[in-house]
Amino acid sequence: MTSFALVQNPRSVEALVAGRATRDGAGVRLTRVLTGELQQRLDPFLMLDQFGSNDPKDYGAGFPDHPHRGFETVTYMIAGRMRHRDSAGHEGLLQNGGVQWMTAGRGLVHSEMPEQEEGLMEGFQLWLNLPSHQKMCTPWYRDIQSESIPEVTTDAGVLVRVISGQSHGVQGALHRSAKDYPTDPLYLDIHFSDNQAFTQSIPVGHNAFVYVYRGSLAVQSAQGTETVPLQRMAILSHGGDGVVLQGQAGTRALLITGQPLREPIAQYGPFVMNTREELLQAVEDFQAGRLGQ
Ligand code: MN
Repeated sequence: MTSFALVQNPRSVEALVAGRATRDGAGVRLTRVLTGELQQRLDPFLMLDQFGSNDPKDYGAGFPDHPHRGFETVTYMIAGRMRHRDSAGHEGLLQNGGVQWMTAGRGLVHSEMPEQEEGLMEGFQLWLNLPSHQKMCTPWYRDIQSESIPEVTTDAGVLVRVISGQSHGVQGALHRSAKDYPTDPLYLDIHFSDNQAFTQSIPVGHNAFVYVYRGSLAVQSAQGTETVPLQRMAILSHGGDGVVLQGQAGTRALLITGQPLREPIAQYGPFVMNTREELLQAVEDFQAGRLGQ
């Protein structure tokens, strides 16, 4: 039980959320786990989509050219290959276990297209907000191949892929200072190989959630033990200094936390700004071809 020592006041489950089946892009079938009505509660996170299918009819059409402005997208491929191209001529291949971290900033037009005609395509796309003073920054992105994602195995034997933030002394693939990026995101992919506990400290003021994509797990706190079934998001309670997860052989889950921005959120599709006027400007800029130059 030494793992509890890191965390004095583990968070409990405030709510379990089942995703909503939908289609996006040119008809890609996906599950929207974090939807618009949770944007305030889970500030700075705006959206989480899960996609996963063996059937090319579900993913083959991909996401042809579309714009973004005002936030970041983080795409994590569990399986499959997706090619990214943007209007400034950048291109990258995202595959098996890799991550693309894109800061749309003032805007770009890009496509995200499957580079496979059969087989499993599985992964996640997270939308992370930018503070008002960075919404019009220069677009930036980084493709992080799977082998460049730091991993740590805890004393209990839990494997953690550290995409962003820090876990058990290991710094994530993407590390930026909380001063420069105030959302200070932690993004972990946690793999259990047996009945094992996993403890992670979380800053008290950060919003946090867990999403289970294999097996199931339990969240342990002073409120008791709460089960999180497969394909459910557990919104973690406010205020605790960490979380204690109990998994089983084969359980896999994402743990995502961030510092809320507490700014007004104005969204119109792929544009996320602070005011309606800024949204109208984004639409006008897009229509005039000023995004992605
Ligand atoms: Mn996109």
